[in-house]
Amino acid sequence: MPRPQSAHPAHGGTTPSSSGAMATLLAPHLFEAAPDALAVVDHHGALILVNGQLETLFGYDRSDLLGQVVELLIPESLRMAHTQHRAHYALAPHARAMGEKLSLFGRRRDGSEFPVEISLSPIEVEDSTLVMAIIRDVTARKQLETALQASVRAAESHLHLLQTVLDQLPSGVFLARGPQARLVLANRAAANLWGATWSADQTMANFISKSGIRFFGPTGQPCPVEQIPTLRALRTGEQIVQAQLRVTRADGISVPVLVTAVPLPASLFTSASATNRGEAAHGQVGAKNAEERMVLVVYQDVTMLEETERVKDEFVTLAAHELRTPIAVASGYAQMLLRVPDETAVPSDASTLDSWQEEALRDIASAMTRLTALTDDLLDVTKLQAGRLQLSREPHDLVALARRICRRMQATTAHHQIHLAVPDEPLVADLDVRRVEQVLHNLLSNAIKYSVDGGPITVTLQAVEGPGPKRQRTRMAEIIVQDHGLGIPADQQPTIFERFSRARNAQEHGIDGTGLGLYLSRELLAAHGGSIWFDSVEGQGSTFHVLLPLLEPAMTD
Ligand code: ADP
Repeated sequence: MPRPQSAHPAHGGTTPSSSGAMATLLAPHLFEAAPDALAVVDHHGALILVNGQLETLFGYDRSDLLGQVVELLIPESLRMAHTQHRAHYALAPHARAMGEKLSLFGRRRDGSEFPVEISLSPIEVEDSTLVMAIIRDVTARKQLETALQASVRAAESHLHLLQTVLDQLPSGVFLARGPQARLVLANRAAANLWGATWSADQTMANFISKSGIRFFGPTGQPCPVEQIPTLRALRTGEQIVQAQLRVTRADGISVPVLVTAVPLPASLFTSASATNRGEAAHGQVGAKNAEERMVLVVYQDVTMLEETERVKDEFVTLAAHELRTPIAVASGYAQMLLRVPDETAVPSDASTLDSWQEEALRDIASAMTRLTALTDDLLDVTKLQAGRLQLSREPHDLVALARRICRRMQATTAHHQIHLAVPDEPLVADLDVRRVEQVLHNLLSNAIKYSVDGGPITVTLQAVEGPGPKRQRTRMAEIIVQDHGLGIPADQQPTIFERFSRARNAQEHGIDGTGLGLYLSRELLAAHGGSIWFDSVEGQGSTFHVLLPLLEPAMTD
């Protein structure tokens, strides 16, 4: 049997002749110890040397193989082609490495076939060329590749399904990832809303600058990039629910939206987004995306809602205005008739009113007063909503104001005793007097209304240190209105300042009200740089606190 020659002289401390002898000695051991199956084939294609790995891989004994043509190890259907390939190779033998994208198969003794990778190296021995083949079973790798391809296909089809479902939604929905908000996918409604296409993997900043889209806050101020809900949620991990935003497109169309941005665990969509970018097959997925956050963003177009709100406000304003005149007329006549008739006003034979008539007139007059208050409140609310409520402010003493309102309110009730505690010196604030009177009037009339059994009501006015409009410590006036009436149920306290909010117990006692007074009070006080809060225990009473910034003494001179 020809003996393969060493291609490279050995290096190191041994002499050429001793190293040659060593190589000769080692060669059969190396051949056997190789982890892959090895075969040496002569120029006729006959197997002249195989190692134990090859025996194991193909299920043959060495003695069955030696002298046989190599095609014995190849599936029958490929044998003819292989013979030709071999002849072709013999004309220009060259080294062929593993992994050249050939689809090769081996055949075991039992006829079963399996995928292999083969590297070939020609070996010149004396005057003939032998070929050494290294054969590696790649069944496990092929199975992995097949499984990976299947999961890539599954991820792609999930992504496709998700896209199809999202495209049917009326709201703009998109997924973005990483601190730069790179797009994963967006639905059709989002593209329509933007009037531009945000491409997959494009950063939000790049998309915004290219598409000319601008974002504004609810009051029309430009929204800084870091405040855009998508970026905020991605960078801080906070969930943003229904933030008001206005998206202005390059064509000038402006769309009011409510934006919800929900951060998602990064792992949730890793395969989908990676598949999108063809990374799955390259194994880059885990490392790159591990630290990335994903966010699901929903843009709810509220153009219709805003328009409905505007039309509703317009209607309420119109109706309240139109009601004012008839209410004033009815109220005026009721008041007039209630006055004791004198000689000049009635015919001489006119009698005074019967008691039922007087009672009916009083009912009419009080209903008219309530209607006037309601129409006034409605007009104020619509003005506030539209940002049209103007304050006309001037320095005014709150002590005098409190005295005036307490006196006026005491005159409306015999069952309650209003106690006022004020400091000796004046407390001057920059006020729209009529509006602050309206707030105090509302708090006192509530204290009276909701103390059904009568009793004391205390109003305390004092100077305190508090957080001013710019959060610095400022001298403030605190007005405290305390009653011992119904109180407000704990579960309804958080929403009591909202428009039309009324507590259960107030309604159960049949007490009239619109639920607008506290909302208006809070807004009016905020417009003054002040605030309002309360403590209340159902069945024990309520204490409302108002804070208003005071003018510094020097400014009041
Ligand atoms: P209205 O009194 O016209 O209903 P408000 O906005 O002034 O409207 O008050 C909202 C609700 O808060 C009232 O309906 C009532 O349920 C509750 N409320 C306000 N003030 C008091 C109070 N002093 N005691 C008990 N409940 C109160």
